Amino acid sequence: MEGRLTTDQPSIDPTTLVQSICRAQELLLTPTDCQSAYDTLLNSILSLTHSPMGFIGSVSHDAMDGSFIKLMALSDEPRCPQGAALFKRIQRKGMIFRRLDNLLGAAISERQVVISQNLANDTRIRGFPKGHPSLSTYMGIPVFSGESVIGLIGLANRPEGYTQELAEELKPLSQAAGMLIDRHRLKIEKARNERRVERARNYDALTCLPSGPMLTKRLMREVHEADRTGCSLSVCIIDVDGFKRINDRFGDEVLKTIALRLKNAIRPRDLVAKLRGDEFLVTLRDANAGPSAYRRLLSAIAEPIAGPSTTLALSASMGVTVYPLDQSDPDILLRHASLALYRAKESGAGQFVTFDIDDHEARREQRRILESIDKGFKRSQFELFYQPRINFRTGAVDGFEGLIRWNHPEHGLLLPGDFLEATESTKYESVLGNFVIRTALTALRQFEADDQHYTISINISPHHFLADDFIPALQAHLRGVSTQLRRRLVLEVLESTAIEDVSTATHTVEACQAMGVTVSLDDFGTGFSSLTYFRDLPVDEIKIDKSFVMGMLENPGDRAIVESIVSLSKRFNRRVVAEGIETKALAQALRKLNCDFGQGYYFGAPLPLEEALVWAGEFSNRR
Ligand code: C2E
Ligand code: MG
Ligand code: MG
Repeated sequence: MEGRLTTDQPSIDPTTLVQSICRAQELLLTPTDCQSAYDTLLNSILSLTHSPMGFIGSVSHDAMDGSFIKLMALSDEPRCPQGAALFKRIQRKGMIFRRLDNLLGAAISERQVVISQNLANDTRIRGFPKGHPSLSTYMGIPVFSGESVIGLIGLANRPEGYTQELAEELKPLSQAAGMLIDRHRLKIEKARNERRVERARNYDALTCLPSGPMLTKRLMREVHEADRTGCSLSVCIIDVDGFKRINDRFGDEVLKTIALRLKNAIRPRDLVAKLRGDEFLVTLRDANAGPSAYRRLLSAIAEPIAGPSTTLALSASMGVTVYPLDQSDPDILLRHASLALYRAKESGAGQFVTFDIDDHEARREQRRILESIDKGFKRSQFELFYQPRINFRTGAVDGFEGLIRWNHPEHGLLLPGDFLEATESTKYESVLGNFVIRTALTALRQFEADDQHYTISINISPHHFLADDFIPALQAHLRGVSTQLRRRLVLEVLESTAIEDVSTATHTVEACQAMGVTVSLDDFGTGFSSLTYFRDLPVDEIKIDKSFVMGMLENPGDRAIVESIVSLSKRFNRRVVAEGIETKALAQALRKLNCDFGQGYYFGAPLPLEEALVWAGEFSNRR
């Protein structure tokens, strides 16, 4: 039944063949989609060979079922209605032939062209789908890639039948089909790899939970959903306590178990995702239950995990931030939940901490101010202003209180109240304090050079005064400074300094005095247990807080306090200073009370050094 037609004529019109080959080469060179390339190639072959029917199929092998053919292109539907329906279905859905012990499979298994000139009597025609149109002649051409058969071109019903010569002439086109199938496979493989990479990027391999970009996308969706519904969203980051300890032996199992437990502990619309390492993200929509919902998540993890030999007791910590109370972008929400987690870890295992946005803002503001203070120091924007203090007995300028000012490039002249609080308990307390000590000593040296004997009082913050390195640093500042000059340096410390640590405060006051420096107790009367300080703190001077001084003429209570402080100071042999003197009447009253020194706007406001000195010159001329 297999045979050859004997003819002297070439089977195909050579011009058309050349044109078809050129078109096929063009197809391979242009990145058209594979389907239209297969269709064009098949149509060329069909019209070249005058075959009414045909297909191009790719041949693949799978481990389970062996070889199979997948149709890549099929001729237009035949005219018989049954066949047309079948072809349409195949064209729509694609078709796979797994049965290859027949005429279709022959070219593949024999690795050569198979021709049948009389299909009606060909026993190999079996396993064709129901409704297949009747076939008279057939030629199957195997398509090679190197040594492997990767495809099959099937042509049928050519009235004059098929020949080996015809197959030979079609060789360039069957080679083109091979290249096309190869190219198609590469494309499929590439797409599959891309999908695999995409999956690895978006899902955690171990727990199959969303992670990476997918986590961000899902979190974003939850935030949008919260915006849309006006409900809250709890963003929780959960971290296994002591994971490093268990990681080596049980790490993977533990993470898988936790993923499962978290999924079971939430409602279907909530999200569980995997962050880095042993961290999980859970978002809870409208978690009205708040703390109890958070606790439920932690207890789900805390269930012991029974292993073959041991039972693992686990615990986890959790940081939570709640949107829209925390009105941040998704990535910042994660950062805030992370900060809260950090705090939860600090407070021990198995805890959750909710992010406190107000506290966070305050800290940020403090950090911002500190950064700006740091810059300010580097750019010499800080300066001492000098406010005179008057000796009531002589009526002369005794000296000045040096008060810190910040010449801020944007906000102008800033007062201590604008920035001092931010430096509390930070290194900037001592940075500022040391700057003030240095500046005061420079001014004292300048006074001495000008034969002026003014004192300078400076303010030392409690933490700085009580710090271990305060005395050694002061010693270093005073190296080479004469005894007279040292005595003119007055360190003002607040009463609250003593409250923090009386024995260190006493010790430091004594150490300062041993170095020849004068110590004053500032804002006296505003702290607690002032009387014991009179007795216990060996300061040289008491400064009555301006709040008592300013009201003493109108308020008998204030006056009584001022009088008591003055008289107690005398009894304890301390000199006494009144600050906040704004009127002549106040100055006169304090002089009468036998107060030693006075300071206030009535005499003069704080001024830059040179202006303060000019002011002092004029003041003494006026007297
Ligand atoms: P303080 O040591 O009690 O300084 C007196 C404050 O009262 C100064 O405010 C001064 O300008 C203000 N003052 C002076 N006379 C009058 C007056 O007649 N009426 C009124 N109402 N106020 C008057 P300033 O400069 O704003 O300083 C405020 C506080 O900041 C100071 O209170 C001191 O505790 C602190 N401070 C100032 N400079 C420094 C510094 O260099 N280091 C540290 N640690 N604290 C400083
Ligand atoms: Mg002061
Ligand atoms: Mg004061």
